[in-house]
Amino acid sequence: MGAFVEVHWRRAQASTALRPRRCHCHAGPIIHRAMDMPPAPATLTVLDTDCRSLAAVALMLHDAPGDTLHYVALLGSGESTWLQSLAADLASAHWSQELQRQWPLVQGPGIHQLPLLPGRLHLTVGLGDPQSCLQQLRLQADRVLLNDWDTDLGRPKALTRCCRRGTTVHAPIDWLQASEAQRSLWHQAGFRATAGAVQWDPPWDIKTSREPWRSYATAPGQCMVVGAGIAGAAVAAALARRGWQVQVLDSHAHPAGGASGLPVGLAAPYVTADDSPLARLTRHGVRLLMQHARTLLQSGRDWAPSGVQERSTGDNASDHWQPQACWIRPAALVQAWLQTPGVQFVPNSAGHHLHHDGADWQVCDAHNQILAQGQRVVLSNAAGATTVLGQSTEWPDALAQWPTTHTVRGLVSWGTHQQPETRPFPTVPLHGSGSLIAHVPFGHEERWFVGASYQPVTARETEWPDDKNHGANALRLEKLAPELFAALTPELEAGALQAWKGQRCVTADRMPLLGPVAPGLPDVWACAGFGSRGLSLVALCAELLAAQWSGEPWPLDASLAEALLPSRKKTSGKPSATVAP
Ligand SMILES: Cc1cc2nc3c(=O)[nH]c(=O)nc-3n(C[C@H](O)[C@H](O)[C@H](O)COP(=O)(O)OP(=O)(O)OC[C@H]3O[C@@H](n4cnc5c(N)ncnc54)[C@H](O)[C@@H]3O)c2cc1C
Repeated sequence: MGAFVEVHWRRAQASTALRPRRCHCHAGPIIHRAMDMPPAPATLTVLDTDCRSLAAVALMLHDAPGDTLHYVALLGSGESTWLQSLAADLASAHWSQELQRQWPLVQGPGIHQLPLLPGRLHLTVGLGDPQSCLQQLRLQADRVLLNDWDTDLGRPKALTRCCRRGTTVHAPIDWLQASEAQRSLWHQAGFRATAGAVQWDPPWDIKTSREPWRSYATAPGQCMVVGAGIAGAAVAAALARRGWQVQVLDSHAHPAGGASGLPVGLAAPYVTADDSPLARLTRHGVRLLMQHARTLLQSGRDWAPSGVQERSTGDNASDHWQPQACWIRPAALVQAWLQTPGVQFVPNSAGHHLHHDGADWQVCDAHNQILAQGQRVVLSNAAGATTVLGQSTEWPDALAQWPTTHTVRGLVSWGTHQQPETRPFPTVPLHGSGSLIAHVPFGHEERWFVGASYQPVTARETEWPDDKNHGANALRLEKLAPELFAALTPELEAGALQAWKGQRCVTADRMPLLGPVAPGLPDVWACAGFGSRGLSLVALCAELLAAQWSGEPWPLDASLAEALLPSRKKTSGKPSATVAP
């Protein structure tokens, strides 16, 4: 059954009203919705309890250049095909192609975000049971679109988590036609009907103690990011795109001087039988990383959407082909992200401790000289975050809830291809208890990489010699590609392999740290602890942090975001010395 959605969008304080937009959609009632737009240019966040008005509202972006639309829709799982047909119907809209490309990559119930026109049109969908999705959504909507005042989302109170004071609610049926009982429920939840609009304007204070995330959002200003690895660069770019002026400090003279100097790495979803939080995070994260790579990097040189052949590790996953995976040279992405207008890289600046001068945060060096100052600071300096917090003696509690992190050394073994190459290198990357990336162009030659050894740093054990690391990587290669291992044995025995070494910062539960470092320090954030999966996770974590600071819809389930907080429940457990988990 076909129907029309018609949206009337009036721009407040503007001389010209925006034209009403009418769009065909495949199912559902005929809907007329009238909404006031804030003065241009504006960011508008719309929560639609289905997705019927997306096309009409998004088409208005044509009439309103400079506006940004965050469109959040709750879709029952059965409705996902509807979105696909919408994209096909609207083939002429420049964002529909992106929708068609990204939508098939969205997997599993929960919250997913699709940046359709980065900076202009972002679609966030809740897939599956709408009430559960509503619980997992975090946003402060300007407009809420309902199908009926008798919403099937549970009590109106459930919607308030997605509202800010002043959010207006729109439904095709006039408020006065709602039953007395329904109106009373809305009233009890803090909604008021005034001058033709229904607004959330509760007579009580909206307490941030119960919902601390409400205090994360602030107007853009100056901020500092400590650490110019892939985490710091991702955060800086995500914030700068939202209007922040970001100084990125690093103790090295150049960016990517730590683990992100890795010559090449794999980004692939981590698969577990129970679809663990880490598995879900990596699935979101790789999709987002590949989108950044596609727009910022040169395919075939800096990265390739290669897919990966997963080899069974015996414990969690069987052999399978994973198309949503890539190899990537992290330093190239770091450079690209640091080029974002609004980002300034500050080399040779080792942050020692933090100080607050009453107005601003300052990052100071070991001689108490101020390196940079601003409203907020993000510690993206891997294991160095713990050190900086420990040295910030004005806040003895800063480390009280900070999880223990471990440093784990690693070495990647690499070699150069022969011309012509006669050895049986696989055409695609292999991944299991290690990884083999067989074809990476470096200038005029092609290199292969196998890794990575995993040696937790302890007081008792000294750093392994390179030979021992190469030996550990040879064992990985033997499991991943036995024929290639046999062909390479003379080279391995002759000690002809090259090495790249680095250190990972690993948390006990293998989840990164993202959020305020301690409840008493709301303007000091961490984005660190990426262990062996930084490439798969940083784009998502940076987007989450920037969404939280801007009051935008979060790109994933709130429960996943909460599992990243440095103040989360502590897990014990040290990394094992053999396999990167
Ligand atoms: C051998 C090896 C192989 C790996 N393979 C993969 C892989 O295939 N796939 C994958 O996803 N991940 C892989 N990883 C992990 C990945 O490299 C990391 O997760 C990621 O690079 C971490 O990025 P980061 O920005 O958090 O840390 P880093 O890149 O280490 O950046 C931290 C930065 O902070 C700076 N810094 C530290 N202290 C201070 C201070 N006090 N003041 C100023 N600056 C400071 C450092 O100089 C550094 O530049 C591998 C890691 C290793 C070691």
